[in-house]
Amino acid sequence: SVSIDGIQKNYGPTSVLRGVSLSIADGEFLTLLGPSGCGKSTLLRILAGLEVQDAGSVLIDKRAVDGLRPKWRDVAMVFQSYALYPHMTVASNMALPLRMRRLSAVQRLPLVGRLLPETARITAEIDVEVMRTAKSLGIGHLLARKPGQLSGGQRQRVAVGRAMVRHPAVFLMDEPLSNLDAKLRVQMRAEIKELHQRLGGTFVYVTHDQAEAMTLSDRVAVMVDGELLQVAAPQDIYVDPDDRRVAEFIGSPK
Ligand code: ATP
Ligand code: MG
Repeated sequence: SVSIDGIQKNYGPTSVLRGVSLSIADGEFLTLLGPSGCGKSTLLRILAGLEVQDAGSVLIDKRAVDGLRPKWRDVAMVFQSYALYPHMTVASNMALPLRMRRLSAVQRLPLVGRLLPETARITAEIDVEVMRTAKSLGIGHLLARKPGQLSGGQRQRVAVGRAMVRHPAVFLMDEPLSNLDAKLRVQMRAEIKELHQRLGGTFVYVTHDQAEAMTLSDRVAVMVDGELLQVAAPQDIYVDPDDRRVAEFIGSPK
């Protein structure tokens, strides 16, 4: 679960998040929907620990994570731009976040615990997990390639796979499909839905695509100008928007 309480964020004089509060249940698929510049990515980055809020707090699985570095949070983020390392293979890209986390745990042990067999065992375990995850995403045959040798859809699968390898409690996805063509978007949308059902994790998904939000989500949170205007099931938002700005953005009949 994720509990967001009174989050505020300013960039200089600009108030980007103006007191955002939201509770997301275990296993829920929640979509943050709103126009460009409304603060969606900023909120997701705060949940991931990539950005620090000016006020408010975040709980992940009932644990306060404020001040906790990204790798120690039980979350994994998929970025719009994939954010893969171009010089590393698909396998290394997928393994990296888990390697960093597991190996830095080893480095905290006394010297004797850090001896090579432990490191080798962790590396072998991660390799098995990477292979299993890659196969489940249909990219098992691409592990030795570099990102530059992949199509956009394949890169997107690698980015999702890298998040899955960590088995996070919470998946944060920032417009993961926005770089894909229309046909692939619809196909990947179905795959993300299937992934959520199969993994059962909590998903916080960002998009400005209303159709995507409506088909994927248990609930949609409509954000405008750094505020949440309405949080409800997709059909409720469409049929009964709380606010004129919600109705305008969703394209509701009333
Ligand atoms: P989009 O749909 O275009 O991705 P968004 O809802 O994700 O938009 P954010 O990226 O969260 O929007 O940005 C919210 C506001 O904060 C924007 O006005 C943006 O220009 C501003 N902003 C974001 N990052 C910074 C930064 N590092 N410094 C200054 N302003 C920033
Ligand atoms: Mg954004």
